[in-house]
Amino acid sequence: MIIDYEFNDYSINTVNFERILIESLNLMGISNREIELSVSFVSEENIRILNRDYRNIDKKTDVLSFPLLDIDEIRDSKHPILLGDVVICPEVAKKQALEIGNTFDLEVEYLFIHSIFHLLGFDHIDDDDRVIMREKEKAIVNKMKYIKLLEEAKGILENAYAPYSKLKVGASLLSSDGNIYSAVNVENSSFGATVCAERMALGQAISKGDHEFVAIAIYSSRGKILPCGICLQSLVEFGTDLDIVTGDEELEVYKLKDLLPKEFVL
Ligand SMILES: [Zn+2]
Repeated sequence: MIIDYEFNDYSINTVNFERILIESLNLMGISNREIELSVSFVSEENIRILNRDYRNIDKKTDVLSFPLLDIDEIRDSKHPILLGDVVICPEVAKKQALEIGNTFDLEVEYLFIHSIFHLLGFDHIDDDDRVIMREKEKAIVNKMKYIKLLEEAKGILENAYAPYSKLKVGASLLSSDGNIYSAVNVENSSFGATVCAERMALGQAISKGDHEFVAIAIYSSRGKILPCGICLQSLVEFGTDLDIVTGDEELEVYKLKDLLPKEFVL
């Protein structure tokens, strides 16, 4: 992927772009292929000129996509696949992010995802097509959200206090408001006093007044891991619909109600 910055007035974060590209191609059943793609960040004036010259629309816009191949050609293509060009205007992205209450980083990532699906042959000119394209985009937005949540759990697990089991665990709990509470397991020489990372994270969230959760990501010093029975019961107190996220190379997502189909109720 070639990334070109016309200017760097904005601190543009492209650290997740490669993963977004891989996940988007995976979603289309295209994997383990070499890809060539260029991404440019340009000014409002320059995106207006490109929009005028290539689409006959003399207005600035947020993102433009220039595909080189259609989806059948992409599927049949020999190495490397020439996907095309993405042009993003960070100034427009910044304004849009403010308008819809998104972060600038997430808005730029969304525009990149949107553009990738254009390069893969999707569009949103009529309503049916728009619904299909939005579904694909949403799948990648959600997947990236969980990949990042799992990264949070991985990032904290070294702090675990686990001298007895030697199994260090990090957990990151995502609330409906978008807050993330991360914690590690804390063991004790009186083994029964040990508290798992998931319940430590839950305690933090409840202490802050957050009671509604979307997902919890868990990772350990030996790789992917799932919560113990006590933690499942603790989490189910706040709803059965929680996503449990773990995984090594591939993300794994389970529903709490599938891991604990019949919870204890007083
Ligand atoms: Zn546990």
